[in-house]
Amino acid sequence: MKFTRLKLQGFKSFVTSASLDISSGLTGIVGPNGCGKSNLVEALRWVMGENSAKSMRGGEMDDVIFAGTATRPTRNIAEVMLELDNSDRTASTEFNNEDVIQVSRQIERGSGSDYRINGNSVRRRDIQLLFADQSTGAHSASIVSQGQIDALIRAKPQDRKQILEDASGTSGLQTRKHEAELKLKAAEQNLLRADDVLQNYITQLKSIKSQVKHAAKYKNLTEQIRTLEAALLRIQFAELDNSKAAAEEKIRIIDAEIEKLFPKLQSYQHLKQALQLCCLSCGIMRPDLRLGFRS
Ligand code: ATP
Repeated sequence: MKFTRLKLQGFKSFVTSASLDISSGLTGIVGPNGCGKSNLVEALRWVMGENSAKSMRGGEMDDVIFAGTATRPTRNIAEVMLELDNSDRTASTEFNNEDVIQVSRQIERGSGSDYRINGNSVRRRDIQLLFADQSTGAHSASIVSQGQIDALIRAKPQDRKQILEDASGTSGLQTRKHEAELKLKAAEQNLLRADDVLQNYITQLKSIKSQVKHAAKYKNLTEQIRTLEAALLRIQFAELDNSKAAAEEKIRIIDAEIEKLFPKLQSYQHLKQALQLCCLSCGIMRPDLRLGFRS
């Protein structure tokens, strides 16, 4: 993978669109003091994911946006695009389908940065990994800023580790190792959370089981009560049936007695009528004979 072009707009002193071709071999940038040579190197580090405003010689990251001059107004957006030739197909797998890879970073005042690879939105980490796999990046020892040569010579063994890792091509592996460790930590946290959720479900299951037991008991008791109520109603019905039969028998006996007494009653009534007629013809008006018989 080779760097082929750096394009920037609104970045530091590059207010209008500027493009720098990076050819094979050595590319030199010459110009008077303050023309923006260091700004170009910073643009290169910035598009590779630099996150320290201080190392961009600013107080905050928004300071990379063109701040305006006496004749030009301030800009609100800065964008840097780095074009990579990937015809040797050495990019990491997820970006290795294209011959040309365009990595871009845009910053809007007050809104932070947006990273893209071939127009698709990606995380800063994806961009850092893409370059780390090529043993380069915003913090790579292969990018030396002004005044850093002395620092490199005086570097402690620990600081030289980065230079050796870049040279041996293992810095990408280190970054991936770090990424894997972070993922592992996140997975462990997820596992702990899942365990908590599981414990919660187990407690809920216990409570539901006990509720099911109570519900079954209730259902059983309700069925027993219903059976007993039905049996009671059957007994009451049988008792009423017996009483009805006894009452009907009594009515039958009384009816029979009435039937027996009926001819007597008729003969008494005839006798009474005859006596009344006899009394009337004899002129006797006894009140007891008008009303009925005395025993
Ligand atoms: P030297 O050769 O002295 O190191 P140089 O060519 O590396 O200089 P740079 O340091 O890249 O120059 O550029 C500095 C210029 O960039 C200054 O003129 C400064 O005003 C301008 N500059 C830096 N940040 C911004 C910004 N946010 N907006 C506008 N101009 C900026």
